[in-house]
Amino acid sequence: PRRLIAGERREEDSADTKLRPQILDEFVGQAQARRNLSVFIEAARARGDALDHVLFVGPPGLGKTTLAQIVARELGANFRATAGPVIAKAGDLAALLTNLEDRDVLFIDEIHRLNPAVEEILYPAMEDYHIDLIIGEGPAARSVRIDLARFTLVGATTRAGLLTTPLRDRFGIPVRLQFYTVAELELIVKRGGRVLGVAVTEDGANEIARRARGTPRIAGRLLRRVRDFAAVLGSQEVGREIADKALKALEVDDAGLDAMDNRYLKLIALSFGGGPVGVETIAAALSEPRDAIEDIIEPYLIQQGFLQRTPRGRVLTPHAFRHLGLPAPAGQAT
Ligand code: ADP
Repeated sequence: PRRLIAGERREEDSADTKLRPQILDEFVGQAQARRNLSVFIEAARARGDALDHVLFVGPPGLGKTTLAQIVARELGANFRATAGPVIAKAGDLAALLTNLEDRDVLFIDEIHRLNPAVEEILYPAMEDYHIDLIIGEGPAARSVRIDLARFTLVGATTRAGLLTTPLRDRFGIPVRLQFYTVAELELIVKRGGRVLGVAVTEDGANEIARRARGTPRIAGRLLRRVRDFAAVLGSQEVGREIADKALKALEVDDAGLDAMDNRYLKLIALSFGGGPVGVETIAAALSEPRDAIEDIIEPYLIQQGFLQRTPRGRVLTPHAFRHLGLPAPAGQAT
């Protein structure tokens, strides 16, 4: 099912390249990540050397790709982008690597999905900028060393735990991205309104920001939908009332939860007495892949205090029961 408020990228989001901030100073939020990056970028530039490899970790839509592009721009280097599942063979990655110029940024999205044979090429490439290619077969096979330009690998992944240890250890600059605050998302929505040429009132921005699941990509998507809604109603600006109406029509509730989130919460509340229940059981009951549940649905529910991950399984909090309008099970304080 297509979820309006899932963080992953979709076709319709190609419009959000317009919303992409271009420089570190335009990038809202992630203050700690920005501070660290700017120090490392400054140091690399002063040394005239490539920036150390960077790993961005965080749920979809928080700005990993945007930051990777900004890093390349601030370094004055080229930006090349690919994704783990796209690189089928070791030779494909070798071709990408040998075409890089000094200090270029190679961005690999979903880097945890590289196949192991491809991943092995990366180890010497990251460590001392060379690859070893095997030429020929059988007894005649020999290994040829090819030197690479001094480049920066920027990897992105939803969870650091999905990476193998040897790969994770080769990133000198790990950066964890956080969900955005409502105040930060308001700024992003207002900026988005300016870029799209729609007037958004403070209240309208707040209504969208509160329901964007801490995620800029979702804020941008909601803004575009609300704008269309306003246009159909003949309204010149996006205020609280229009935003609220549009979002209700799109089944995004007050807490920014959509039908899928509410199905998830209701399942645990009604079928499993609030938990604990294992993620495999939940995945089977909802007919959703486990990955989607762990990477997309749960992080925000946990961050908002609806859900806890315990060694025995997922457990709903009293806050979740209040949200659902259900009594909490006996033994759980409300
Ligand atoms: P990820 O790679 O983490 O999935 P992206 O970098 O593609 O996320 O960001 C998704 C969209 O959200 C971008 O197109 C951009 O418009 C917007 N965006 C992300 N972070 C910010 C930010 N800090 N400020 C403004 N817009 C942002």
